[in-house]
Amino acid sequence: MSTAKPTIKVVLSMPFGENTYIAQIDDRSDCLIIDPGLEPDKIFAYLDRHSRHPAAILCTHGHSDHIAGCAHLKQRWPECPIIIGAKDASKLTDPETNLSAPFGIPLIAPRADRTVEEGDIISVAGIDLDVLDTPGHSAGHVVYIWRDRDPIRVFTGDVLFQGGVGRTDFPDGDFETLCRSIQEKLYHLPDDTIVLPGHGAPTTIGEEKRNNPFVRL
Ligand SMILES: [Zn+2]
Repeated sequence: MSTAKPTIKVVLSMPFGENTYIAQIDDRSDCLIIDPGLEPDKIFAYLDRHSRHPAAILCTHGHSDHIAGCAHLKQRWPECPIIIGAKDASKLTDPETNLSAPFGIPLIAPRADRTVEEGDIISVAGIDLDVLDTPGHSAGHVVYIWRDRDPIRVFTGDVLFQGGVGRTDFPDGDFETLCRSIQEKLYHLPDDTIVLPGHGAPTTIGEEKRNNPFVRL
């Protein structure tokens, strides 16, 4: 168990109310950015105010509200790698499958520098994150688990929300697959695990196992 103090800042991007997380160890100047959204200026403002620079950009999946800030961050920090699940990497550069074109704001992100899948570990900015494949909302959706914390934190993107689950009506979505991702993977994490979702407020695994109206254990 690491003793260094972590800080997780959430930056809300409109119009989809998407949560970008900035995760950092307090005695370091670098950080991780998870799911940079449609208002990257808010991310820049936080980083500048706290003299931080990103060591990596992690995307839980390739939908536009979770990748829109990648290009802006890459422009300022070209060496900063973009990391995404292997099966969602193609969405970064495809306005149709990243859903930006269907929603009327076509956009693309730079190509992935690294793709990940279940079992991979990302070690950046003094933070180790485990990767789990969690398809159902998007075929290549992954979650990132910050395990050496008490309690554990998990960045769940659009798989599991407080009292909700991700939409499954997109072309590569499937509700049964989403249920399996949640029941067989996320609900096996300890009950006090803090869930940091892509939209809405934080929750815990135990709370959702007991009360989520869509998927219970
Ligand atoms: Zn999504």
